Amino acid sequence: MELRSFLIQLLSRHDCLVEEAGDAELRVLFPSPIQESLHVGELEIFNMPRGDGKSLSLVHGGRDFIETLEPLALSSGLFSAIAFPHLTFPVKEPAGLLASHLTIQNGVFRLKDARPGTCSYLMVHFRIVATADTRSERMIAVAVNEKTRTIPVGMEAQLSYLLDQRGTKEQAGAGSLKTTCDLTASSGNRGFSGNPEAVSDLHRTLPDAREQAQIAARETFHDFINNLNRRLERDLARLQQYYLTLAGEIEKRLQKKARDPEERERAMSRFEATQTDYFKKIQDARDKYALEIVIEPVSALRVELPVTIMEVSLQRRKASRYVFIPVNPITRRLESLVCEKCRRPVLNFHLCDALHILCQTCFPDCPTCNNKSI
Ligand SMILES: [Zn+2]
Ligand SMILES: [Zn+2]
Repeated sequence: MELRSFLIQLLSRHDCLVEEAGDAELRVLFPSPIQESLHVGELEIFNMPRGDGKSLSLVHGGRDFIETLEPLALSSGLFSAIAFPHLTFPVKEPAGLLASHLTIQNGVFRLKDARPGTCSYLMVHFRIVATADTRSERMIAVAVNEKTRTIPVGMEAQLSYLLDQRGTKEQAGAGSLKTTCDLTASSGNRGFSGNPEAVSDLHRTLPDAREQAQIAARETFHDFINNLNRRLERDLARLQQYYLTLAGEIEKRLQKKARDPEERERAMSRFEATQTDYFKKIQDARDKYALEIVIEPVSALRVELPVTIMEVSLQRRKASRYVFIPVNPITRRLESLVCEKCRRPVLNFHLCDALHILCQTCFPDCPTCNNKSI
C-alpha cells in the first residue's frame, strides 16, 4: 500500500489532524500525548509525493520517521483494523438465497429489501485454558458482525487464509491497514493512546465475541471434559466399593458381638468415622477433577467488508419483527442470527410468542420472556 495513505490513515486514527496541501505536502497537527511519544512538535510538515512507490522512506527532522511510528502501529496486545473494499460477492437472487438457507419452524419470513452496504466485523483471538488435574491450552478465533450482531460462521478460517495470502503477496488495493491500538489497555485507560471511538465499539462487541468463544470452547474441550468425567466416575466407583467393603466388615463384627454393649459402641463409632472419611474422599475426588476454564482475549482485528444486507421480516401469528441478515463476501453465505438462550448461531429456528429467536434445543424456553413475567 502507498506509504502516504498509510501515514494519513494511521495518524488520523490516532486523532492527528492531517491536511493534504498540494501534491507532496502533508501538514499534521499532533495531539499532545502523541507529540511526546513520537518526539514531534504540535505542527509538522512532511514532504511526501503522491503515488505508488514514490516514497519508500520518509526522512523527517533528520531521522527515519516511519521507524518512529512503530509504537503507534505495533503496540502490545494488538487491536488492528483492515478493510477489503474490493472483495465483493454480488447476490443475484436474494429471495432465492434466503429461501434456501433460512427456516422458521413455526413462522414465516419475507424479504423486504436487499441492498449493498458495508459492515465492520470484530475477529478476536482468545486464549482458552482448561485446568483440572491436567491442563490444556488452545487458541480460538471468533468473528462477530458489529453492525447487525450476526455471526459470520466460518469467516475466521477463511480470513486467516486471506491474510496469509496477503502476507506473502501484497496486492495493491486488496486491503488496507488502518490502525492498531492496545487491546489489553482498552479495559482501562492505562497506557491507551488509540482512537476512543474504536475502543468503545470494542467494548460493545467483545462480550458477544466472548459468548461465541465459550460455545467454541465447550466444543474444543469436549474430549477433555469427557475424559475428566470418566476418570471422576471411575474414582467414585472405586471409593464406593472400598467403603462398602469396610462397612460390611464392621457390620459382620457387630452381628457377631451384638450382645456386648461396649463392642457395639466401638463398632458404631468406627462406622461413623468410616462414613465421614468416605464423604471427605468423595469431595477430594470432585476437587481433583473440578474444571476451570479461563477465556482471555489476546488480539482483535476489525475487518471492514462490502456486503449485501437483507432486511427480513420474521412473522408468527399476527406479529412481525425485522432483522438484518448480511451476505458475507468472505464465506459467501448468509450470516447467522443468534439463539436468545444458548447464543448459538442459527439459521433454522423457532420463534417465541414475542418473536425471540430460539434454537431447536432451547425452544420453547425463552429466557427473555420468562424473566419479564417474574
Ligand atoms: Zn439455543
Ligand atoms: Zn421470548
